[in-house]
Amino acid sequence: MGVKLGVLALQGNVSEHVRGFERALVEAGVSHGVVVSVRRPADLSDLSGIAIPGGESTTISRLIQKNGLYDPLVRFEGGIFATCAGMVLMASRVDDARVKTLGLMDMSVFRNAFGRQKESFEADIQIKGIDHAYHAFFIRAPVATDAGNGVEVLARIDAGIVAARKGQHIALSFHPELGTDLRLHRMFLEGLGIGE
Ligand code: GLN
Repeated sequence: MGVKLGVLALQGNVSEHVRGFERALVEAGVSHGVVVSVRRPADLSDLSGIAIPGGESTTISRLIQKNGLYDPLVRFEGGIFATCAGMVLMASRVDDARVKTLGLMDMSVFRNAFGRQKESFEADIQIKGIDHAYHAFFIRAPVATDAGNGVEVLARIDAGIVAARKGQHIALSFHPELGTDLRLHRMFLEGLGIGE
């Protein structure tokens, strides 16, 4: 079965996401999976899903607009696997006017929500739909609040929402592409009907 996925390749953890999707496709039993880099609107054609990686949401937002990708991403019909800065971009409200979010998930996000004291940390968290604890890497992570209009909260810690889903989209404030645990990638692929 051939499946084509993409990774938004403007800035941030691009190669880690390409490898993560490639490994998850193999685990899901997809023998002819392809993962491509997305830099311009034409790159989105035929994709079942894309990742929006972590990085700097201000920079990624600027480059999305510069490359003519804003409307094509808002209209994209596949699923979006959005991590960290990607989660910021998915939200409908953000505490930083420099970021023009895609507004695909009705929630408010707060950038760098853990402040200087706790810029990076790891935590075992419970995620709805995942059997055992998930070891999550948080790096200058955002949190979300006010999930509404069809946004399902998958994980919450004291500071706020760190994982959420809407339809085929999954937004995470941490970095699943940095570890070897592919359960969230698999959950995303299952939402696309791949490897159920
Ligand atoms: N703090 C970054 C932002 O808000 C996100 C950090 C990350 O993606 N690791 O853009």
